[in-house]
Amino acid sequence: MPDLAILGGTVVSPQSEARLNIYVDDGRVAAVTSDVVAADNVVDATGLHVFPGFVDTHVHLMDPGPTEREDFPTGTAAAAARGVTTIVEHTHGHPIRLPDDLTKKREHLRERSHVDYGLAAHVWPDTIDRLHELWEAGVTFFKIFTCTTHGVPGIDTANLWRTFTALADFGGTCLVHCEDEAMTAAAERFLRAEGRTDNAVIAQWRSREAEEVAAAVTALLARHAGAQVNVAHVSTPAVAALVAREREAGADIAAEGCPQYFLLREDELLEHGALRKFTPPARARSDAEEDDMWRLLRHGVLNHISTDHAPSTLEQKRHGSIWDVHFGLPGLDTTAPLLLDAATRGKLSLGDVVRVYAERPAKRYGLFPRKGHLGVGADADIVLADLAATGVVRDQDVLSKAGWTPYAGRSVNGRIVSTFLRGRPLAADGAPVTDEAGRFLPGRGAAA
Ligand SMILES: [Zn+2]
Repeated sequence: MPDLAILGGTVVSPQSEARLNIYVDDGRVAAVTSDVVAADNVVDATGLHVFPGFVDTHVHLMDPGPTEREDFPTGTAAAAARGVTTIVEHTHGHPIRLPDDLTKKREHLRERSHVDYGLAAHVWPDTIDRLHELWEAGVTFFKIFTCTTHGVPGIDTANLWRTFTALADFGGTCLVHCEDEAMTAAAERFLRAEGRTDNAVIAQWRSREAEEVAAAVTALLARHAGAQVNVAHVSTPAVAALVAREREAGADIAAEGCPQYFLLREDELLEHGALRKFTPPARARSDAEEDDMWRLLRHGVLNHISTDHAPSTLEQKRHGSIWDVHFGLPGLDTTAPLLLDAATRGKLSLGDVVRVYAERPAKRYGLFPRKGHLGVGADADIVLADLAATGVVRDQDVLSKAGWTPYAGRSVNGRIVSTFLRGRPLAADGAPVTDEAGRFLPGRGAAA
């Protein structure tokens, strides 16, 4: 007899929506069928939509590291409550640079995660020759900064080429934060020399042009090296177009989108300052520009969505000048709800939500077919949502240590009712319901 049956819900995949029953055995999907059979536990999902657990491949939980901003228990509680059952994490303040760092971090994280997790490593200029060791040790991807940010040194064009050729050699994959070092450094010198401390400095320091230049170089080198490359947090249609052009020319390159580039506006920085300080900054200036981003996501020019969850508390965001406060936003509490809301408003289909926040990121980073879908044999990571419900995003519902969200006050359609991890109840009504721990997911290069 199956361990669990989820009966009568509308099961959503990229290809279809159909009223089906899901049966789970031993933590995995055993059948998706219109048949009804007895099971040890039965969940009535009538009137609800059933999604695969969401997969967020760009998350910073600061643990170990600056845990006053976030840690694994709080960050993954937020994930679990909002339907994210798999994350890939990396922390700039405590990077994984060598295999021993991965071993220590895995040891530290035992029993600290509510959801299943992979770990990404950072590329440092002096570790490029040793990346293959980390790949075989089981990191999910390598994070690269093209400009020095959050204390991580920028990888210049020569070292980017070395890194990409190394990755191409052993079949590794990477996520590149694209902003041009020379342009951002020059802008910073100029703005500081002018004595500027107003909120508008962020958009000038971290300009559209600096992002486009770094993305263009990254995409070009990706094609020439034959490396698999992902461009992080693409902020404009222009950057997406650069990436698409190199992909059409043969590069194995994908563009990552984040909700803040679909839902926040450039001018919010002026009013909200540090609470909108993240980089690249939000660029949209009109409904039409936001619609352009949604269209690129629907059409696959933007490959998948992640949060780039990088929280700070209000206290941390409110102390220090606009230059000094941390970059970053909380996102795990809001990303799945905002995507479901966007689907109810016609910005994308429910199938698109599964495609961009489950199937595609899982496929891109070697987590599929275990994660990212509800096919037979996949982990039974399941989200039940009531799309007829309505609500308002509120700071007091945020489980991240941030304790706030830039989306507070927005009306949203849809509510995540409950989440299952490997067939076990994980979260319900906006909070985790178990102390059972998520598992480490080795990257696709892990030595067998
Ligand atoms: Zn990030």
